[in-house]
Amino acid sequence: SKGKTIAIVGSGLIGRSWAMVFLSGGYKVKVYDNQPGQASRAITDISRKQVEELQEAQMLRGKLSATEQLSLLSSHEDLSQALEGAFFVQECVFEELEAKKSVFQAVEKLVGEEVVLSSSTSCLMPSNVFSLVQNRTRCIISHPVNPPYYVRLVELVPHPETLPVVMDMAYELMTEVGQAPVRIRKEIDGFALNRVQYAIIAECWRLVKDGVISVKDIDLVMSEGLGMRYAFIGPIETMHLNAPEGLEDYLRRYREGMKRVLSSFGPVPEFDGEAAARINKEICELIPNDQEHLSARRERRDQLLMGLAKLKK
Ligand code: NAD
Repeated sequence: SKGKTIAIVGSGLIGRSWAMVFLSGGYKVKVYDNQPGQASRAITDISRKQVEELQEAQMLRGKLSATEQLSLLSSHEDLSQALEGAFFVQECVFEELEAKKSVFQAVEKLVGEEVVLSSSTSCLMPSNVFSLVQNRTRCIISHPVNPPYYVRLVELVPHPETLPVVMDMAYELMTEVGQAPVRIRKEIDGFALNRVQYAIIAECWRLVKDGVISVKDIDLVMSEGLGMRYAFIGPIETMHLNAPEGLEDYLRRYREGMKRVLSSFGPVPEFDGEAAARINKEICELIPNDQEHLSARRERRDQLLMGLAKLKK
């Protein structure tokens, strides 16, 4: 990192997580938010998490101590001040196209030509997000997964005009700070993660809706079945390992079966009406949807992910 600076624009959930990830790599991190007081609240929140929770759990990432990392962090109420000296800008404002477009337009006016402009958007297309930027060759989407500190994947998605060196630079940066980047070669709705996630959600939904399986049991199909291996190997490697002679052997054995099952899938669900009411009732019987129960389950999820992240190290 050699004392280099990264600016974070938008200091909510994801802005804070990015700040912690970049600090762990030894970068100076300058946080900006357009809501007065929000950036300094972010700093307080990060300090508490880093010093008390991560250090105690021995989960603090990087070579620097919590105190050393926190000394690299600052909050700014003024955008130009926050951007000063930054070589990389990570935008983390609300998931609203107009907000992102105007943020990047404003940022571009305040930084040099060589500064990389990166967005955290989950499902907006680069062509839209960067449409008001003049020089789009340095624009990229770096889509994290929540919580990024434990779930390391970052999808890098280029604008059609993005230079390959920018993609390479983002890839190296993400690797250096301990994330796991993947290159999406051209923009596509949902990128890769959400396309796969939605395919899974759709089939789980159809199976419950059609009375084939309960909510509790379909979630177990993932958490006790597929999920056990997917934390370590992906679906293509799974195919390769699941037949004695590898992928081609797998295809010989299972091609027809896969095609038969796949062609029996139903249409895209509506995700509303009677089915939604019924599925909601079933999940709420397992986990009531009040804040107390939801927070407890989120806490449990983060603890378990922390354990898994440790195991994967
Ligand atoms: P959030 O609501 O927690 O935070 C957004 C922050 O941006 C707020 O602090 C807000 O004050 C600030 N903001 C809004 N407009 C601004 C502006 N014009 N200039 C500066 N700051 C501004 O939202 P989040 O969950 O952190 O999401 C941020 C981005 O990250 C979104 O694009 C979202 O899709 C993406 N993302 C979220 C998740 C997730 O699970 N939460 C996962 C991956 C990506």
